Amino acid sequence: MAVERTLSIIKPDAVAKNVIGKIISRFEDNGLKIAAARMQLLSQNEAEGFYAVHRERPFFNDLVKFMISGPVVIMVLEGEGAILKNRTLMGATDPKKAEKGTIRADFAESIDANAVHGSDAPDTAATEIAYFFPALAVYSR
Ligand code: ADP
Ligand code: MG
Repeated sequence: MAVERTLSIIKPDAVAKNVIGKIISRFEDNGLKIAAARMQLLSQNEAEGFYAVHRERPFFNDLVKFMISGPVVIMVLEGEGAILKNRTLMGATDPKKAEKGTIRADFAESIDANAVHGSDAPDTAATEIAYFFPALAVYSR
């Protein structure tokens, strides 16, 4: 399997719960490296742009409101099969359906406040990394 990069976000609910370190440990303990990281309060524009693919969904406005309700930790994870590995570590979107031992099963309350974001495919990973870390290719190689 190839070394990949994927975008991860620790969402405002998990930051507020004080579990940034526990979530990052899940990544590190499973062979993913933190290639870039930044803690930030997203602007409404940034959150809307990031979730533009969900623009037409009924939950879009609530999702944006939630994502700007407090600081988030935005990271690039790097490793063998990082995209799928991160999705597996995260668990299902709805924490009630997430497998035991996953980040969402352990740290998330609801489908709206579900602790983490992770890119779902190579093309979205590339787009999302470029969105938040446009200079990554320059400073990390
Ligand atoms: P994932 O984050 O697992 O990739 P999606 O890309 O489908 O899930 O959705 C993006 C985010 O939008 C989810 O993480 C969740 O916060 C929110 N969301 C998705 N579906 C719903 C829903 N039915 N009701 C409320 N929020 C939702
Ligand atoms: Mg998604």
